[in-house]
Amino acid sequence: MHELSLMEAVRDQALEQAGRHGAGRIVAIRLRIGSLAGVEPEALRFAFTVVMEGTIAEEARLVIEAVPAVCFCGPCAQPFPAPEGNCECPLCGAISLELLQGRELELRSLELEEGSGPPAEAPSPAAKDIP
Ligand SMILES: [Zn+2]
Repeated sequence: MHELSLMEAVRDQALEQAGRHGAGRIVAIRLRIGSLAGVEPEALRFAFTVVMEGTIAEEARLVIEAVPAVCFCGPCAQPFPAPEGNCECPLCGAISLELLQGRELELRSLELEEGSGPPAEAPSPAAKDIP
C-alpha cells in the first residue's frame, strides 16, 4: 500500500523533529493533503496507526488538512478551483498547466510534549556483562 510508505516517511520526519526538540511524546501530527495527492484519507489513517506503533507518536492524533486543487489561468490572470484535477478555465476554456495547489503531501506541524527525564525504555549499558 502506497499510503504506508508515505506514512513511514512522515513518521521518520516527525521523529527526527521531535528528537531535535527533545520531545518525550508526539501529541499530534498535522498533514496537508492536496485533493490530487492521490491518497485516501481513510487509508492514511490506517497506515498512521500501523507505522506509529511502538514509537513516541503511538498515541498521537492525526490531523489532516485538506488542500483543494487550484489552477491558474494565464490568459485570464486568475486562479480557479479544479476539484477533479481538471484544469480547464471556466471563463475562457483554456487548459491550464499551472497547478497552484492540490498535490501537497507534507508534514505541516507537530504538537510535542516535553520529555520528563530519561526515557523509561533506554537500553541500559549495565545489562552487558562486565569483565
Ligand atoms: Zn481563462
